[in-house]
Amino acid sequence: MATKRDYYEVLGVAKTATKDEIKKGYRKLAIQYHPDKNPGNKEAEEKFKEATEAYEVLSDDQKRQVYDQYGHAGLEGMGGPGGPGGFDPSAFQGFEDIFGDFSGIFENLFGGGGGSRRRQSGGPGQGASLRYDLQISFKDAVYGTKAEVSYQRNEQCPTCKGSGGTGRKVCSTCQGTGQVRHSSGFFSIASPCPNCHGEGSSIENPCHDCGGSGVLKKRQKILVTIPAGVEDGRRIAIPRQGDAGPNGGPYGDLFVFIRVRPHEHFERSGSDLYCAVPISMTQAALGAEITVTALNEKKIKLKIPAGTQHGKLLRIRDEGVPVANGRTGDLYIKVIVRVPTKLSSKARTFLEEYSRLEGETSDPQPIPLSDLHE
Ligand SMILES: [Zn+2]
Ligand SMILES: [Zn+2]
Repeated sequence: MATKRDYYEVLGVAKTATKDEIKKGYRKLAIQYHPDKNPGNKEAEEKFKEATEAYEVLSDDQKRQVYDQYGHAGLEGMGGPGGPGGFDPSAFQGFEDIFGDFSGIFENLFGGGGGSRRRQSGGPGQGASLRYDLQISFKDAVYGTKAEVSYQRNEQCPTCKGSGGTGRKVCSTCQGTGQVRHSSGFFSIASPCPNCHGEGSSIENPCHDCGGSGVLKKRQKILVTIPAGVEDGRRIAIPRQGDAGPNGGPYGDLFVFIRVRPHEHFERSGSDLYCAVPISMTQAALGAEITVTALNEKKIKLKIPAGTQHGKLLRIRDEGVPVANGRTGDLYIKVIVRVPTKLSSKARTFLEEYSRLEGETSDPQPIPLSDLHE
């Protein structure tokens, strides 16, 4: 499986880095791999996302602490990247101070989230973005698929078209601000207005179907296209499939987080696939032509050259993971030479004869370490 790089390594900072150093490290990468500077460059985009994810964790004290202690696995239980729990696009709001005029890029990358999502009290706000965790098979991740996802969301009430009813009036308790202030000693504390629940307005004739909220909970099913080559932990943004906003506000987005189930026989590293096949020691010595069944059931003829050693990696071009812009990775097949565990008396005679013929020695000497680690 593709393993996640260490977040500190990604940002090029030490484990003891200060917040400022982390910020600087990220800023440098983000500017270098900025999608606007590298149009159509998938690798730059991946690098950019990887750096953003690393920054998202290391700039948050709590997440950083969890990551330091438990690594990537520790973040799975949190709202962090790749873990279950709400994905909060507002987490990216703090980026303005890093980028200045670069902040708009987050809108492209995270499906319209970012700083524009702040809700104005009293007016129609954008609905919440939702998260859906989707498990797919290894094969579907490699070749792409369509998956039906079914989930609950708030939809705009058809009866009142999201308005909540008629006779909307500015709330007299808070004068439309949605907040009330209490004095407490020297301080003035703001809290949501109890009369309008922070909306800033109230409705004289609330809609009977939605009770004035303008939204109804509904289960919806949509077909999500999973692109070929999708990696574990990737999120796919589907615009406007989140919750409807209150008071007729626009819909939030749906973020589908991909979890890839491991395969029994194949694994992946980037765009390359890996598997292992056994051959006999005579096939290894004499050479052979074997047929290997690829991940997509395709039968691939493979020539084993005479004298093939155990552990040899054979490459088959273009039978790996289809990735962007028509490129496909390769399939690597590791040759496992099996030694027979049961010999017929005839086979034993032949092998003993072979051993005599070769004059095999019984005092082999250690060989270079590079062979040990092959
Ligand atoms: Zn209604
Ligand atoms: Zn009010």
